[in-house]
Amino acid sequence: MSQLFELPALTFAFNALEPAIDARTMEIHMEIHHDKHHAAYVNNLNKAFESAPEFYGQPVEKILKEINQVPESIRTTVRNNGGGHANHTFFWDVLNPGGKKAPTGDLLADLEKSFGSLDAFMEKFNTAATTRFGSGWAWLVVDNEKKLHVYSTANQDSPLMEGHSPVLALDVWEHAYYLNYQNRRPDYIKAFWSVVNWSFVEQEYQKSR
Ligand code: MN
Repeated sequence: MSQLFELPALTFAFNALEPAIDARTMEIHMEIHHDKHHAAYVNNLNKAFESAPEFYGQPVEKILKEINQVPESIRTTVRNNGGGHANHTFFWDVLNPGGKKAPTGDLLADLEKSFGSLDAFMEKFNTAATTRFGSGWAWLVVDNEKKLHVYSTANQDSPLMEGHSPVLALDVWEHAYYLNYQNRRPDYIKAFWSVVNWSFVEQEYQKSR
């Protein structure tokens, strides 16, 4: 069993992000988001690889970076569910309470250099998150020339498939916010900024360089 992909345990309580994302959202919704949605991606990924068991035990991030190595018959399933697994695993760390409340140091300097200011970066990220039509993710990434970019991806597509390293992620699928925010995605995005663990984001930024 240890060869199979596994759902990572959440390292914080479902209600830990109150009041930014309220108790009802966190207890009911996070429980569903992690224990049902994320678990389903992991289960589907394991099922897909029953026909290609040599992939069991490889990091899902590596598989996504080399998605064209995956047999064509299961590639779309792996893209959707492997992306779902990797994206959510990353997202839980972004949300993990604790850590810095704002970017500092090298990351802050690079954000200011790349986007003009921290506010301008956040505005660009907000726009990416708000205007992603349907389901997807907003990202801050580092590309292979070590440059920062903001964009969104559709469905569970991962920046790893483009050779980019995720630094910050926001899930904008309706399942991430509908219970509390209904159709008010901008309110959810605003709440998100108050719970970002910038220590994790800075760590991923440093790793990417
Ligand atoms: Mn999700």
